[in-house]
Amino acid sequence: MDKNIKIGIVGAGIQGISNALFLQKKGFDLTIFDRDTPGSHVASYGNAGHFSPYASVPINRPDILSDIPAMLFSSNGPLALKWNYLPKMIPWGLQFIKNCTTEKMMHTARNMHQILDLALPAYDELCDEINLDGLVERNGILYIWNDQNLKSRELEINVRNELGVDQQVVTPKEIHDLEPNIKPIYHGGVYYKNGRHARNPKKILLKLFDLFLKKGGKFLKMNIKDIQFDAEKPIFITETQRFIFDKIIIACGAFSKKLTDNLDEKIPLDTERGYHVHFKDCDHLLSRPVIFQNRGFGITPMEQGLRVVGTVEFGGLDNPLSKSRIKNLINNAKYMLDDLPEHEDEWLGFRPSLPDFLPVMGPSKNYKNIYYCFGHHHLGWTLGPISGKIISGMIANENTNLNLDPYSSKRFS
Ligand SMILES: Cc1cc2nc3c(=O)[nH]c(=O)nc-3n(C[C@H](O)[C@H](O)[C@H](O)COP(=O)(O)OP(=O)(O)OC[C@H]3O[C@@H](n4cnc5c(N)ncnc54)[C@H](O)[C@@H]3O)c2cc1C
Repeated sequence: MDKNIKIGIVGAGIQGISNALFLQKKGFDLTIFDRDTPGSHVASYGNAGHFSPYASVPINRPDILSDIPAMLFSSNGPLALKWNYLPKMIPWGLQFIKNCTTEKMMHTARNMHQILDLALPAYDELCDEINLDGLVERNGILYIWNDQNLKSRELEINVRNELGVDQQVVTPKEIHDLEPNIKPIYHGGVYYKNGRHARNPKKILLKLFDLFLKKGGKFLKMNIKDIQFDAEKPIFITETQRFIFDKIIIACGAFSKKLTDNLDEKIPLDTERGYHVHFKDCDHLLSRPVIFQNRGFGITPMEQGLRVVGTVEFGGLDNPLSKSRIKNLINNAKYMLDDLPEHEDEWLGFRPSLPDFLPVMGPSKNYKNIYYCFGHHHLGWTLGPISGKIISGMIANENTNLNLDPYSSKRFS
């Protein structure tokens, strides 16, 4: 295969940059396009920073459907809906419901596990040329809950056991020993000691981006409006220019759908909106990320302070930030920890989510020189490098030894 082929990538989030770096390792010529400066306020900047190789059980589970109405109407719950978006959300919602059978849940869990299991080694491989001192902590990740009804928790624990995921069910005393500053509000939890967390996802992203530039990669700050073709060669169309490539990758997270729609592929990508706030100078209160599972939020100790992250809000890409969701995060954080100061930095971000909770990775259905890498929902920060490694292997015609069919966009046709 000719390694001098030119590859264009749209999206400088963790997916786009990871794809570019793995392709550079194979000698390809890379250009990344992004309408913003890398590290600006997109999902790859504002996420909770968890590296979660254990998180293979999807949200679509048989038991979730009966819980949804109560979650939607609870002010401290994890779920919210912008009602003006409901009509647009219905087709996605119907497909989500179809994916809530035990069989479909296990299909997603197995195929998430296949890539999650390789996620940390791929991160280490990608980061071996940058200095991450002080930016990644390896203290594990702790999930706690305070509902007495453990039906749902048991299902997740059993599925993870079946998949061979390393997990430790912990008692209230063990939780207290791990995180003594959390108020004694919990009844139980699970500790994943192989979980890691980023103390500043933006800094890590920018270090990877600098490495890409150092290795000869090119970056153009431009919005890609459309994709056209010269024979079989794809062309990125910006407001004023055209850029022709041998191959291109669409890796612009929740925004990818605008481009795939133009390519005549109806991929049901939508967004689960999520929020964060910071409590400055409080990161000493926790030693690791703690996720309060039945309220659907988590707190990560970061350089910015404690980053409180959560909410799944269905409301599309254009609705404004919901103040009620920010309030929800603040109240939940104060329920968990005493003596928090005024919060700072209200942020809204967009998780790119498909209704079967598997990403889309691989060639386009209609155009052999176009590849997709998006839809990593709650796990895109963890899955950036392994996704880049997989796509680079596909483009280089290498055998990845993985079953990649479950991630193909063809599953929606
Ligand atoms: C609240 C929240 C918490 C999360 N926590 C975690 C976590 O702890 N662990 C985890 O693994 N994952 C987490 N995630 C998920 C993770 O952040 C995302 O899945 C991941 O960042 C998506 O990366 P991406 O590169 O696909 O997209 P993005 O980070 O959204 O990047 C897409 C890029 O494409 C650019 N772009 C879009 N359209 C165009 C266009 N037409 N032309 C040019 N440029 C364009 C954008 O400017 C952007 O830079 C979280 C997400 C949220 C919202």
